[in-house]
Amino acid sequence: MEWEKNVRKVVPYTPGEQPKEKDIIKLNTNECPYPPAPGVKRALAQMDYEDFRLYPSPSADSLVCALAEYYHLDASQVFVGVGSDDVIAQAFLTFFNSKKPILFPDITYSFYDVWAELYGILYKRQPLDENFRIRKEDYLKDNGGIIFPNPNAPTGVLEDLSMIEEIVSYNKDRVVMIDEAYIDFGGQSALELINKYDNLLVIQTFSKSRAMAGMRIGYAMGQPKLIRYLNDVKFSVNSYTMNRPSLILGVEAVRDDDYFRKIVGMIMSTREWMKKELSGLGFSFPDSRSNFIFATHEKYPAKELFEYLKTKKIYVRYFAQPRIDNYLRITVGTDDEAKALIEALRTYIR
Ligand SMILES: *Cc1c(COP(=O)(O)O)cnc(C)c1O
Repeated sequence: MEWEKNVRKVVPYTPGEQPKEKDIIKLNTNECPYPPAPGVKRALAQMDYEDFRLYPSPSADSLVCALAEYYHLDASQVFVGVGSDDVIAQAFLTFFNSKKPILFPDITYSFYDVWAELYGILYKRQPLDENFRIRKEDYLKDNGGIIFPNPNAPTGVLEDLSMIEEIVSYNKDRVVMIDEAYIDFGGQSALELINKYDNLLVIQTFSKSRAMAGMRIGYAMGQPKLIRYLNDVKFSVNSYTMNRPSLILGVEAVRDDDYFRKIVGMIMSTREWMKKELSGLGFSFPDSRSNFIFATHEKYPAKELFEYLKTKKIYVRYFAQPRIDNYLRITVGTDDEAKALIEALRTYIR
């Protein structure tokens, strides 16, 4: 077909499976194993469906203000979008418009190269070292922009803030984005640097630590100028990205800090238990500061374990990719889910 020559062709990102069965243990997409804050349930019950005939606030004021208050920022420093995937996609479109390649790690969130391809942004993958650490020097050179997650995905490795600051400070002439999808599970956020650096954009999400993956809420924080440019692009694509329920329920999720801290604490303690048990079974993994563990076994190939676990109705994530095709990314679930996983592995590995 002639028209096909002009199609903007992309190889899309492949999300983890969302199986239909109910009785499975789902440790494959880093969702929160606990429900959202109780206030979310109350607000859901009180929602007036008649309001749905009206467009939502184009600037998502209520949620922007709730986040600004929570993080002690001005509303002009916060941008919200339909999950951080939407926020990052808009940020790529807005800020990565140089003739020079943007930089990100070779092992990282596999959406970055998809957006770069889609928008025609040049990019260069910088190899992590043999311990899956970022080599700082790789980012202290000319480039068109930088993005990486901290902690990194799918490795779970956290880099410290002093290294991030060095990268941000060296790259004052381009935007550096830190994707903090997992920062709440024991990391130190780069948020404290945004007042010092006008080229730093910090991106977070409600999908992992706030138990709201299904609501699709993400946000970016940075100096007002960055946020203004992001909004200009957003308003040039779709004025109403955030639907009414997400705005209302998102505000409730942010307000309940006690509940947030409680579930994050439970996930971290289950994670530490899983680390001990997995080591005992012969697994090794980089030290995770996220809500998943990226583990490899000395004897059993990851793909085989992945398929075995599926027969036990335990879903984990396997990536058939160079350097990591002998690893499983296992989401930290509840204590019961973690125990079921360890028991299943124990019967297989002996
Ligand atoms: C989960 C994840 C996201 C996207 O999450 P949303 O559900 O779109 O908010 C972004 N970056 C990384 C590294 C993630 O793991």
